[in-house]
Amino acid sequence: MSWKRICNGLLGPDIPVHLRDDFTLLTARHMRGQARLLFVGFILSLPMVVLGASPGAGPLVAYGLPAAIFVLCALALASVARPLAPSATAEEARKTIDTLWQLCLLAAALGSLWCVASWASAPVEVRLYYPAIMSLGALMLSYCLMAVRSVAMSVLLVTLGPVACVLAGTGATMDRVLAVSILIAVGFQMVMMVRHQQLLVSLVEERHKSGELARRDPLTGLANRRALIEQFEGFADSGASLRLMVIDIDRFKRINDRFGHDMGDRVLQTIATVLLSHARGDICAARLGGEEFAMLSRSDALDPALALQLLREIRTSEMPHGEAVTASIGVADAVVTQAEDWTALYGQADRALYRAKDEGRDRVEAFEKDAAAQARTPSRPARQA
Ligand code: GH3
Ligand code: MG
Ligand code: MG
Repeated sequence: MSWKRICNGLLGPDIPVHLRDDFTLLTARHMRGQARLLFVGFILSLPMVVLGASPGAGPLVAYGLPAAIFVLCALALASVARPLAPSATAEEARKTIDTLWQLCLLAAALGSLWCVASWASAPVEVRLYYPAIMSLGALMLSYCLMAVRSVAMSVLLVTLGPVACVLAGTGATMDRVLAVSILIAVGFQMVMMVRHQQLLVSLVEERHKSGELARRDPLTGLANRRALIEQFEGFADSGASLRLMVIDIDRFKRINDRFGHDMGDRVLQTIATVLLSHARGDICAARLGGEEFAMLSRSDALDPALALQLLREIRTSEMPHGEAVTASIGVADAVVTQAEDWTALYGQADRALYRAKDEGRDRVEAFEKDAAAQARTPSRPARQA
């Protein structure tokens, strides 16, 4: 069993795979703020470190180590001065976390060196202060590194384990009192780590669930308009050539009027199943609202022939009210480079859809620039994008 697995076993459940990226991003942001405070805390402690160094430890311990800690903390503070960019990827967040824990450990190692050197050379009557100072530093550090559980746990065990053992072995009552107090504080810190971990996982899980709900159409389970636009924006970032098909059920109002709203809902669900069966890879099937659906993807992934196939499949699908249903489809293509291009692309597909309706329904029409320029008055008012 690996060291990491032992740590995970001791320090609470592992993070579910589907939440890992979100968890990493949240932790990196959290840890950056905590590390900032930790480095400031270390710098503020330096006058005490200079003042408290054991005279027998020499100038390197009294001045050299505090100077090195100061330089390290100042550099580390400069590196975490700005928060993580809102657009940061999980990979960038992971790198931030790795850099932070390495900087923290380096600062802590220098601090520990100071404590051990002072402890070894100090007169017996003041010796006890050094392990106490070291324990406080290790507790601060492990709290800051809580998100990287295996490192936080190693800090506690590697620094405070030997300290507690040495203290317990001296035979002096006050040394034993300090050893037991350190062990209790370490145990408490570990329980806090597990709770902190559980809290963060449940927070990320809730955020994940509400994000899913906000992007899904509750009636059909398809992506909703918001999710479709997000998908569009993702494509726009890479300057792709896109194809949008807007699919509108013909005379749907009559179905509602004759068979009731619930039956209308079941028809919408049946149509959604047809569209969903073609949503693979980059192809996104969405319900834009009412009885209007859409398929969106890169032009090379969304075959124009699919529009005719969809019409055929909708027309021949067995509908819950027992009658055939048809739809009309408007298709538009464009090379998009910015998020605002959505309005233009949707407008073009919508105009093509109107033409399909005007020309008798149950058909596909593609947007043509020339036809649009010639049309003096739109046959129907433009719909909202
Ligand atoms: P056209 O062929 O011109 O598209 O005619 P249509 O009847 O399909 O279009 P219209 O816009 O006149 O009617 C759309 C209807 O869709 C009206 C509205 O009551 C109904 N509708 C919108 N949302 C829902 C829904 O969630 N469930 C149900 N059952 N009906 C809905
Ligand atoms: Mg309709
Ligand atoms: Mg409609």
